[in-house]
Amino acid sequence: MGYSAWFQCINEGCSATYALDEIIYTCQTCGELLEVVHDVDELKKKSANDWKDLFDKRYRDNTWPYGSAIWGKREWVCPMIKDKNIVSLYEGNTNLFWAERFGNEIGIPDLWIKQCGNSHTGSFKDLGMTVLVSMVKQMISDGKEINAVACASTGDTSAALAAYCATAGIPAIVFLPKDKVSTAQLVQPMANGALVLALDTDFDGCMKVVREICYENNIYLANSMNSLRIEGQKTISIEIVQQMNWKVPDWIIIPGGNLGNVSALGNGFLLMEQLGVIKKRPKIVLAQAEKANPLYLSYLKEFEDFHPITAGKTLANAIQIGNPVSVKKAINTLKEFDGLVEQASEEELANASARADRTGMFNCPHTGVALAVLLKLVERHTISKGESVVVISTAHGLKFTDFKIKYHQQKIEGINAHYANMPIDLSPDIDKIKETIFKRLG
Ligand SMILES: *Cc1c(COP(=O)(O)O)cnc(C)c1O
Ligand SMILES: [Zn+2]
Repeated sequence: MGYSAWFQCINEGCSATYALDEIIYTCQTCGELLEVVHDVDELKKKSANDWKDLFDKRYRDNTWPYGSAIWGKREWVCPMIKDKNIVSLYEGNTNLFWAERFGNEIGIPDLWIKQCGNSHTGSFKDLGMTVLVSMVKQMISDGKEINAVACASTGDTSAALAAYCATAGIPAIVFLPKDKVSTAQLVQPMANGALVLALDTDFDGCMKVVREICYENNIYLANSMNSLRIEGQKTISIEIVQQMNWKVPDWIIIPGGNLGNVSALGNGFLLMEQLGVIKKRPKIVLAQAEKANPLYLSYLKEFEDFHPITAGKTLANAIQIGNPVSVKKAINTLKEFDGLVEQASEEELANASARADRTGMFNCPHTGVALAVLLKLVERHTISKGESVVVISTAHGLKFTDFKIKYHQQKIEGINAHYANMPIDLSPDIDKIKETIFKRLG
């Protein structure tokens, strides 16, 4: 394969480049973030139709490693990884759920939910982690000294890192804000044998610590400021378009915290556009929790400046971030995609999530943020009836049963749970049971 890719500084005045197997996370010249750039001219030697055919042929193929939706698109993701170094749990290929009932209820019949949480560790973090851990395996096999891989996490990144490292036999260290992740999120890295460090701080505090630890000790940093992860995550947009028979939806709504995923989404579309696979761009909406809304505040001032905040406690714990690492990339993406930012309160996210559950979904609170934002934009006629909308569901609802059960028990403080639905305790008395059933059926 003549395909190649490299790290490049996102500062246009600098544009320094580095090899993808260099241990580097920010530009050595100017300190800015790096992004992965591909040799697009080389990719252009294959026609758009040939790429589509190739990706369709590999889709859910049983030939290693193409069953993974990431490695089925490897030339666009990370072309230099050798087969023997790929660490994959067959991530991607997730359901694009036609939300027919919910869509009709709210007047958007062409509504789709991209179920990224239907994955090995239950969140979209698997999509990027397969790329990062594969690169680490390759670097180790090439003789680089890496003793462990580490990340700070609001829960899902650590679960993905622990699973992929355990699969590859590479030590993992995860830094979690103590008592701020769900039980399911906490138990995953424990089960996979990671060193789990619960710090008495928030995510932003963990992030600061892990950066310092990694800079010195031959420990590789797995946070999304490491743009190898973004390369895997960008397949979300390619996969959505593929699942829509290579058509582009009008709108995409995505919840954001550290803001890597929204830039990944944008990068996928930009690459498809460059290669002639698509002709139009969707509008991208970034959805934030009101309690952790620094980008929303910046958006209100047309992104003139950005100020980190201290994030408040939110049910959407994976996006409880006040100082997002990838903010510059996210703002670039939103500008390129005629984007907007909207926020949702705790009550709005909880009720939107529960209301959509009534139509067959099982939403995590972050997806609830995106759904609540969808409801607002429909009400405001920003999104209209004839338009197609894809909501990115970032995690599986089963990782957040604490949130869901408390909602139905009406035990979330300050929230009026409109869709609470509790089990009814009954004796096995046929008449009482009949009475209860017919009362519900009306
Ligand atoms: C990580 C995560 C997000 C936020 O993604 P960013 O790239 O940090 O913006 C949203 N939802 C869930 C469930 C996550 O795990
Ligand atoms: Zn630079």
